[in-house]
Amino acid sequence: MREKILSVLKDYDKDNIHIGTIGSHSALNILKGAKEEGFSTVCICREREKKVYENFGVVDKFLIISDYAELLEEEIQDKLRQLNTILIPHGSFNAYIGKFDYLLLPMFGNRELMIWETDRDKQREWLERSGVRMPKKFSSPEEIKGLAIVKYPGAKGGRGYFIVSSSDEFYEISEEMVKKGLIKEEDVKNAEIQEYILGANIYFSFFYSPVYGRIELIAADRRYESTADALGKVPAKEQIRVNINPTYTVVGNFPVVLRESLLVQAFEAAEGIVEVSKKIAYPGMVGAFCIESIFDENATMYVFEISARIVAGTNVGIPTSPYSYILFGENMYMGRRIAREIRLAIEKDMLAELIY
Ligand code: AMP
Ligand code: AMP
Repeated sequence: MREKILSVLKDYDKDNIHIGTIGSHSALNILKGAKEEGFSTVCICREREKKVYENFGVVDKFLIISDYAELLEEEIQDKLRQLNTILIPHGSFNAYIGKFDYLLLPMFGNRELMIWETDRDKQREWLERSGVRMPKKFSSPEEIKGLAIVKYPGAKGGRGYFIVSSSDEFYEISEEMVKKGLIKEEDVKNAEIQEYILGANIYFSFFYSPVYGRIELIAADRRYESTADALGKVPAKEQIRVNINPTYTVVGNFPVVLRESLLVQAFEAAEGIVEVSKKIAYPGMVGAFCIESIFDENATMYVFEISARIVAGTNVGIPTSPYSYILFGENMYMGRRIAREIRLAIEKDMLAELIY
């Protein structure tokens, strides 16, 4: 597959590259960054969202589709190849496309790691081998001690998660979910049950640069979640009366600057994750990745998830974050950082090293 993609890339006119992505998630970030680095842009989006991208003036060409999965259709791929498009994947690629086997287009980053990130067991293996501290995993509901968070297979963006403190409670809520048709009976035994870490959530957005051979911290954020962030507005006795359970639908993000002495934990985690990525999916991390963590009351960092691509939390870092400004001394944000890497790689004739 990679050989075929590289042969597509070989035929590209390198002076006429388009940077392309799906119109959602972090597309404004990616497309603005591409324009700032001198590229033309192409946005693959639905008619309804087109006006947003048009309004911001970051798109040179639109390809209108009715469903994101149409990106896999030959006609769309062909148009993108004619435009010498390098695709930048983001969260909507995972959420709405998932498999990239039929995507015969140069895509920035390492596709195999994007598969590792979407599989809970693979992700845990990757993180454990990296030496990062993770929330404990309970292998059966009977082991639950203290607060635990339950994640059902297929639960996306935190929907379908719930918090319990005993096995009885686990079975009670699971049964209710089966009755409501939210999960299947056989899902109950496949639930991932984790120790619930009470603390401050921090999402660290890093970039691994093959051109410079270094890890860069580009931005940090926290999420604004419905309804988890609304619970403090309702008195506890009413929460019990109407049986409110937190849900984690993301509606936005806030920028965060860390207490500086905590950064070392994030850098150590990033180094471990990049090292192990080389062993599990050669040549390892390329470009954007995000370490999703919680700091407990002792300011100890627990990593609960990893994303091997740009996350939407980096949108808070436009035009720059304190970290990227210190590193670059100019406005720098993830979309622009990706485009900068592509531009440098074209100049150094190492574009193929960014596409796996
Ligand atoms: P969307 O295209 O907005 O539906 O997003 C695609 C995927 O990325 C979904 O699974 C979302 O939950 C996730 N996502 C979108 N925006 C954000 C955000 N601002 N922060 C974290 N996750 C997000
Ligand atoms: P996710 O969809 O995995 O990004 O997680 C959605 C929400 O669940 C986030 O707000 C996380 O903080 C929370 N979460 C996931 N795992 C844990 C955990 N082990 N302890 C505490 N909160 C968690």
